[in-house]
Parts: sequence; C-alpha cells; structure tokens
Amino acid sequence: MALCTRYCLAFAQGALWLLLSLLDLVLLPLFGSRRCLRRALGRPAAAARDSEGRQPAAVYGASASAGETSPEAALSGGGPLVVVIVGASWGGLAACHQLADDQRFRVVLIDRREFFEYTPGILRLFCQPGLHSSMALKLPKGSHKFVLGQVTSTSHDHVVLGDSTRIDFDYLILATGADYRQPITPSSNDVTLASRAATWHEEAAKVRTARSVLVLGGGAVGTELAAEIVCHFPEKRVTI
Ligand SMILES: Cc1cc2nc3c(=O)[nH]c(=O)nc-3n(C[C@H](O)[C@H](O)[C@H](O)COP(=O)(O)OP(=O)(O)OC[C@H]3O[C@@H](n4cnc5c(N)ncnc54)[C@H](O)[C@@H]3O)c2cc1C
Repeated sequence: MALCTRYCLAFAQGALWLLLSLLDLVLLPLFGSRRCLRRALGRPAAAARDSEGRQPAAVYGASASAGETSPEAALSGGGPLVVVIVGASWGGLAACHQLADDQRFRVVLIDRREFFEYTPGILRLFCQPGLHSSMALKLPKGSHKFVLGQVTSTSHDHVVLGDSTRIDFDYLILATGADYRQPITPSSNDVTLASRAATWHEEAAKVRTARSVLVLGGGAVGTELAAEIVCHFPEKRVTI
C-alpha cells in the first residue's frame, strides 16, 4: 500500500513538472525575459529620496536619475538600474558576476575590506600564517564600481556608509554573511590585505608559544582547528 502511494506521488510529481515546463515554454515568448527578470528581482524601490531627512556627506548611484527614470522605464531602455551589493564575498561576488556586465544594470559593490579571503582554508593560518597570500586576494576589478566602506544603515532606496556617504539604489542585495569571532571574521581594522596578514601572524604566534590550547566548541570549526594544531604542534596538549 505504502509502495503504491509512493509510486502514485512520484507519477503525479512528474506530470506536474511536465505541465509546468510546457507552461514555461508557452509563457516565455508572451511575457519576455525582461518581465521575468523584473519579477525575479521583486518589487522595485520607489524613487530616491532621503526618508530620514539626513544630510549625506556624499551621494552616489541612482539619486539623480532614479527619480526621473523608473525601473520600468529602465527595463524598457530608459537607462541602467542601480544595483547595490553589500558584501563582496561568496554571495556578493557571485551576484556581481551575474549582473555587472548586463547593460541594464549599474552595479555598485560595497565591502568594508578590500580583499576576498578563502574562509574554508583559514584555520590553517593559526599554524601557518605565511599561507595567507595563497588564501586571499584583492577584490577583482570589473565593470562594476567598488566602494570600500562599512554600511551602517539601509532604507528602502539607499544605504549609508560609516563616513555618511549615501548610495542610492533601485535594487539592494545584502550579502553580509555571518560574523564569527575574530580573527576568523576580520576585525574592523583588517581592511587591507597587509593588515590582515599581520593579524594572522600575531594569532599564530599565540598558538606557537602556548603550551596547551583549549578549543571551546567541538563543531566543524572547533574540531578542524584542533586537528590543525595537533598536526602542526604534536607536542602541545589540545583539549576540545
Ligand atoms: C573556518 C570555516 C570553514 C568553513 N568551511 C566551509 C566549507 O568547507 N564549505 C562551505 O560551503 N562553507 C564553509 N564555511 C562557511 C562559509 O565560509 C560561509 O558560508 C560563507 O563565507 C558565506 O558567504 P557569504 O558571501 O554569504 O558571507 P561572508 O563570506 O561572511 O562575507 C560577507 C561579506 O560582507 C562584508 N560585510 C559584512 N557586513 C558589512 C557591512 N556592514 N558593510 C560592508 N561590508 C560588510 C564582509 O566584509 C564580507 O566580505 C566555513 C566557515 C568557516 C568560518
């Protein structure tokens, strides 16, 4: 009985998938890719204005044009839409690569640091800080505009940076990730590749000179860190 129900469900699922695919084929020529894209991106932001009444230090992006050029107009050839991406790591860079070369968009990528770091490898830096140069790179240049700064607030049509610079947008992509404890997440001082490399040397010196290490937390990160230390310093006592 259970087997029969499972086959029926699988058949129904297959039939539904086929139906949706056929619908897709019929609807795509009718609605066109622009409208699909608009739907995928969601409801456009309203024309730019400072809803908080703050006086920004500087304004970039859509501020002047967004009031005159609606997203609908831009999609039908009225001018590029400003897409602000906050966070230039895995998520933000992937979005940037997708959108930056599309003539319909002007992409502004914002990050509080100038480099990309390969997070899955960084635990080794507690023991071999010299490997940092092979795990981090300056952020790539491209047809997007890069702004170095910390976003401190967002509203429906603009973001504000720590130095009061205001950047207007038609669409906002927040890719700010998750914060781990420092030094796994860089501190606010680690803006450049050089300062970040120096941090790793300092942290590795603490591990190197310690007689024993206590790792609090035995999840994926804790056990991997303990394994790195045991492998590089077999004489140290490591407790998880
Ligand atoms: C030790 C370790 C090992 C891991 N190993 C793996 C693995 O093997 N496989 C895997 O899939 N995942 C792994 N992960 C998880 C993975 O690193 C994260 O899922 C991934 O980094 C998330 O990418 P993200 O782009 O969403 O955010 P993040 O990589 O966290 O990037 C966020 C970006 O936003 C910027 N930012 C944040 N706030 C602001 C702000 N206010 N203004 C300006 N910029 C800002 C940051 O500077 C940063 O560049 C690991 C994580 C750790 C800590």
